[in-house]
Amino acid sequence: MSRYLISRLQTLEPYTPGEQLNDRSYVKLNTNESPFPPAPGVAAALADTASLRLERYPDPGQHALRAELARAYGLTPDMVCCANGSDDLLGWSFLLYGSGGKMYCPDITYSFYRVFAQLFSVELCEIPLEEDFSICPERYFGLGAPIVIANPNAPTGLALSRADIRRILDANPAVPVIIDEAYVDFGGESAVPLLAEYPNLIVIGTFSKSRSLAGLRCGFVFANPEVISDYDRVRCSFNPYNLSSQTMAAAIAAVRDAPYYARCIREIIRVRALAAQRFRDLGCVCTDSKANFLFVSHPHFPACDLYRALKADGVLVRYFPAPRIDRYLRVSIGTAEQMERLFDSFINITKETNL
Ligand code: PMP
Repeated sequence: MSRYLISRLQTLEPYTPGEQLNDRSYVKLNTNESPFPPAPGVAAALADTASLRLERYPDPGQHALRAELARAYGLTPDMVCCANGSDDLLGWSFLLYGSGGKMYCPDITYSFYRVFAQLFSVELCEIPLEEDFSICPERYFGLGAPIVIANPNAPTGLALSRADIRRILDANPAVPVIIDEAYVDFGGESAVPLLAEYPNLIVIGTFSKSRSLAGLRCGFVFANPEVISDYDRVRCSFNPYNLSSQTMAAAIAAVRDAPYYARCIREIIRVRALAAQRFRDLGCVCTDSKANFLFVSHPHFPACDLYRALKADGVLVRYFPAPRIDRYLRVSIGTAEQMERLFDSFINITKETNL
C-alpha cells in the first residue's frame, strides 16, 4: 500500500479468487468453470479478424450482442446491458443503488458482495441462512433497501423457486431486487419471466459458467429500460468501450449455439447427480445443489485438511475458512473422468476415517 492511498480504501479487503494454477496436471474443480470447451462457433468468431476490425473501437452501444441476448431470452434490446464479467455488473449495482446507504444479502453467499459494499460505502446487512443453508423468503419481506440474492446461491448451490422470488418482489415494490443468476442454467428457475411484471427486478447473468467462457469475461444484466439506463450511465462514465470487439463477437456466437450448451449442461447435471450420490454413500453431507458444484462435508475429516491433502494429490477444490461453512468443501463438477480422479483421491485420503 502506498502512502498516497485515501484512508477509506486502506482497510479495503479485496476479493480472493480461487487459485488459477496454470499447471495443467491439476484436476481443477475450484472455480466453477465448465470442464467443456466453448461452442465451436466461438473459435470461428475470434479467428475472423477481417470482421472484427480491431483497428476500430468496438461498438459502445453493444447493439449486436444486446439484440442477440434479447432474442434468446424473449426481451427487447433496451432491457439488456453487458459488461466485463458479471462481477462488473454486480459492482455497479452496489454503486448505483447502495452507495451511502444499505443493502441486504444472505450471510453466506458470494463473498464478492462484501467487497463491493466496502468499495462503494454500502452498509451491508446480512440475513442469516437457515440451519440447512436454505434462504427463508419471509426474512426478505419489507426490507426497505435494495436486496441481492444469488440464485442458486453460492457456495451452497441451493435455489429459491420463481414463486419465492415473486413473493420477495411483491413484498419489496419500492426497492431494486437483484438476482444473481450465475448458476441458473444448471437447474434453477430463472426470474427472467418476471421482468415484465416487476420494474424493480434486476437479473444478472454470465457467460463464465454454462457457456464455458470464463476466460472471455462477459456478463449481462436484464431489467426494465429505465434501470438499464442506470447501468449505461455508470458504464459510459467509466469506459463506454467496456467490451472488446472479440468479446462481443465470441459472446454472440455462444448465444447462437444453444444446442451445444444444452448438451454440456445435461452432462454436468448427470455427473452432478452421480457425484452427489457417491459423496452421500461415503457418509458425507451434500446439499441439493442446482449449480455446477457440490457443497460437501465429511463427517470426521476436517475440510481444511481434506482440501490440502487433495491439492497435494493434484486435485483442486475450494475451501472457505469462514464461520458455519468451514466444515465444507465446494467441489466444481468436472467431466466424468475428472470426478473419478477426485473420488480416487478422496477415498484414499479419508479411508482411515470412514464410517
Ligand atoms: N456471481 C456468482 C454467484 C459467482 O459465483 C460468480 C463467479 N465467481 C460471479 C457472479 C462472477 O462471474 P463472472 O464475473 O465470471 O461473470
